[in-house]
Amino acid sequence: LMGYVGFANFPNQVHRKSVKTGFQFTCMVVGESGLGKSTLVNTLFNTQIYPNKQPAEPTHDCPQTVEIQSITTDIEENGVRLRMTVVDTPGFGDFVNNEESWKPILDNIESRFDAYLEQENRVNRRKMVDNRIHACLYFITPTGHALKPLDVEFMRRLHTRVNLIPVIAKADTLTEEEVVAFKQRILADIKHHNIQIYQAPAYEYDDEETIAENREVMSKIPFAIVGSDKEFEVEGGRRVRGRRYPWGVIQVDNEEHCDFVKLRQMLIRTHMEELKEFTNDVLYENYRTEKLSAMGI
Ligand code: GDP
Ligand code: MG
Repeated sequence: LMGYVGFANFPNQVHRKSVKTGFQFTCMVVGESGLGKSTLVNTLFNTQIYPNKQPAEPTHDCPQTVEIQSITTDIEENGVRLRMTVVDTPGFGDFVNNEESWKPILDNIESRFDAYLEQENRVNRRKMVDNRIHACLYFITPTGHALKPLDVEFMRRLHTRVNLIPVIAKADTLTEEEVVAFKQRILADIKHHNIQIYQAPAYEYDDEETIAENREVMSKIPFAIVGSDKEFEVEGGRRVRGRRYPWGVIQVDNEEHCDFVKLRQMLIRTHMEELKEFTNDVLYENYRTEKLSAMGI
C-alpha cells in the first residue's frame, strides 16, 4: 500500500505505551548535494516535506559552511502518532575545501547531547525533550568504485556519536551487478577503516521470525536507494512511484528493484526503538562519561 508507513503495527507489546503517547524519532540525512536526500525524505513519508524547488545556483555569497535545517512533521496512522524530525545538512561536501565538512555536523549532534544532559541535571526531569539524532543516513555517491576520502572522514569522525546507516544514493544509475559489487566494496572499506556502522543487536528471547527479519534487513546495508515523487502506470494499470527509463520503470516500492522498502521498514517499524535505545544507552552515555570526566567530575 503506497501511503502506508508501518509504525502503527509495531509488533512488540513493549511499545504499547508509545502507541498511546505517540512515537518521536529524529533522523539526519548527510551527503553531497544532488544525491537525492530531499527526495528520499519526501518518498519516505509519501509527502512533500520539502517543497519542490530549483536548486540554487552556486554564487559567491553562498554560505561557506554546512547548514543544519530541521523539519518536523506529524504522521498519523491507524490513530497512532509519529512525530518525525528530519535534519538536513545542505552544503556538506560542496566546497573547494571539504576537509572540515564533518565538523559542523558533529558539533550539532553533540550540542543535542549537551541539551539533553542539561535537562537531566535539572531538578524537574518530568518534561524531558529528546532532540538527539537517532539515526544518520549517509548518502554515498553511486560511482560503483569505492568510498571517497570525504565519506571515510565523515564516518570516522561521527561513528562514535551517531547510528550511521550508509545508503547508496540513486541506485537506479547502477546495474544490479554493479550494486552487488559496490556494496561489497563499501563494506570492505568500512571494515578496513574500523568504522562502526549501525548493527542491530540480537536477543536470546527473539523468536525465529524476528531473527530472520533482522538478518534480512541487515543484509541489505548499505541500502541501495531510489527516491521519486512521481508516479507512473505499469502493467495492469497499477500506478507506482518510480523513475522512468526507456526500458521501463524502476519502482521505489518494489523490493526487487531497490532497498527503499527495507530501509523504511528498519527506520520506522522494526528498528526505531532499537536505534533510540542505542543512542541513549551507548552513544549518549559514552559522550556523557567523556564530558564529565573531562570536567573532572
Ligand atoms: P539533495 O541535494 O541531496 O537534497 O538532492 P535532491 O533530492 O534535491 O535531488 C537532486 C536531483 O536528483 C533531483 O533532480 C532528483 O529528481 C534527482 N533524484 C533524487 N533521487 C534520485 C534517485 O534515486 N535516482 C535518480 N536517478 N535521481 C534522483
Ligand atoms: Mg536537498
